[in-house]
Amino acid sequence: MYAAYSGLHLCESHFCRSVDSRVRRRIRNDALLSANPTPEDPETWLIGLSGGKDSVVLTQILFETFEDDPRIELVALTIHEGIDGYRDASLEACLELTDDLGIDHEVVSYADEYGVEMDSVAEDDPLGMAPCAYCGVFRRDALSTYADEYGADKLLTGHNLDDEAQTAMMNLLSGDVGQIAKHFDASLGSFEDREIDDDPFVPRAKPLRDIPEKEVALYAHLRELPTHMAECPHASEAYRGEIQDHLHELEDEHPGTRHSIMSGYEELAKLAAEAHRGGGPGGECERCGAPTNNDVCRKCELVDVVGGELPGDD
Ligand code: SF4
Ligand code: ZN
Repeated sequence: MYAAYSGLHLCESHFCRSVDSRVRRRIRNDALLSANPTPEDPETWLIGLSGGKDSVVLTQILFETFEDDPRIELVALTIHEGIDGYRDASLEACLELTDDLGIDHEVVSYADEYGVEMDSVAEDDPLGMAPCAYCGVFRRDALSTYADEYGADKLLTGHNLDDEAQTAMMNLLSGDVGQIAKHFDASLGSFEDREIDDDPFVPRAKPLRDIPEKEVALYAHLRELPTHMAECPHASEAYRGEIQDHLHELEDEHPGTRHSIMSGYEELAKLAAEAHRGGGPGGECERCGAPTNNDVCRKCELVDVVGGELPGDD
């Protein structure tokens, strides 16, 4: 493959090694082991595994990196949103991968957790929002609930360079500096620079964030990893799609644009985080106990609106 941003031509084996080493370098640079886990006191890392190429490649590389390292325990978590013909097929890929690798795998469904499925939420759409607006709130809640339940120290997701550059541009264009600051402490910066003690959510990390999306897809293909490529039928983030198109054009004309956006954005986000810290959720939801600034958290509000129910409800 030829990477215009670096000028490198790589054969199959050098390409795969280059992806592996960039992910491992990111793990080092983001100081994921900065809490100094030991074999007697290991860390548990929960991997958000959807069955798409990104999370499958992440799981494979993490497994190969930490297979013989008793300081790290990996658990994969798949969220089943209740999307007919989409999640069942990708769940197959998750099962095949975790079975091949022999790592623990848990499945959590919106049906069990919230008494709803995304297909019916998307059809009814009682608030007239995009389906992803409900789904994102439920997913975030499910991931943090289960991260707590498994005593996870970190939550690792498969966001790639394109995803992160899109989020960076969306945050910059919206002018929301508070959001940029939150992005840094929640999931972007190195663990040595982030302030996570005040954050009630399990800290996240994105070890694939230096790898362009096309390279993640090529890696999955060359390594013959089980992946599910279809797109969710409710995908509706139109603005993100527009930004993605612009970034592709810019990258074609000016190779390296995504990398330079991210290096500048990360520096800015660090400054923003230093200036904006201390504004985390101050209270707990009176229904479910999740951290929130209101009486009832957004997830509980949405569960009511879509006619679902929480496990403890009568
Ligand atoms: Fe949920 Fe939207 Fe992702 Fe579909 S595309 S799984 S609705 S967040
Ligand atoms: Zn709640």
